[in-house]
Amino acid sequence: SDFVATVSHELRTPLAAIYGAAVTIRRVDLTLSQEMHDRLLGVIAEESDRLAQIVNDVLLASHLDSGQLQLNIGTVDAARLTEGVVEAARAHLPEGITLTFDAAAQLPPVAADEQQLRQVLVNLVENAVKYSPDGGPVDVRLTKRPDHVQWAVSDEGLGIPAGERRRVFEKFYRLDPNMTHGVGGTGLGLYICRELVRRFDGRIWVESNGAQGSTFFVEIPIATHGTRRRAREKQAA
Ligand code: ADP
Repeated sequence: SDFVATVSHELRTPLAAIYGAAVTIRRVDLTLSQEMHDRLLGVIAEESDRLAQIVNDVLLASHLDSGQLQLNIGTVDAARLTEGVVEAARAHLPEGITLTFDAAAQLPPVAADEQQLRQVLVNLVENAVKYSPDGGPVDVRLTKRPDHVQWAVSDEGLGIPAGERRRVFEKFYRLDPNMTHGVGGTGLGLYICRELVRRFDGRIWVESNGAQGSTFFVEIPIATHGTRRRAREKQAA
């Protein structure tokens, strides 16, 4: 019932926007300016993308639950991957958000599935932006630990009370299901992050970011010779 309630609510909003835009474009009694026409097409494209994302999250969560998700563990260049995620996010930043990226020099490669690790980072950066409705800085930092590379994604947004910092990783759990801050979502993103990171033998958790906001941490094991050999064998096969 959690699933049906959350997902149908989340699907309805973009569907209504797409339907509204399409109906307006089709009205014969209305002469739309080129600008308005383009804006409505923009709504259709953006909201369709949102729908596709929701469907992807639902499918991914279901594959994770049923153990059907294929893992392709190889060596991943953490700095290059993260830079790509940050660059992509910069292309559609809301006004008032600044996004910075800082990586320690000479980071070793990590052992992970690159596409799935990208998904984790995209989710964390998107959340940091989304839960900073009044704008503010979002910082992504990469550092080296003894056996891991650590990501820290910080924001100065709404923050997460100490008592809720474990629960936000549960499936469908949302701090503000009634959307008092106008921020929507399925509550699947952090669940997916936790499940993926666990499969890479990594860790994910959240702490307070000083006075307000949150910092999400991810640690992924540094690739060993075994990981490199396995990845090479896979490429050769
Ligand atoms: P969604 O964003 O789709 O609701 P997530 O699983 O990504 O789902 O996050 C679960 C909940 O954790 C969110 O609903 C929100 O309440 C909280 N949350 C996640 N990231 C942040 C953040 N950076 N700042 C404040 N709250 C957050």
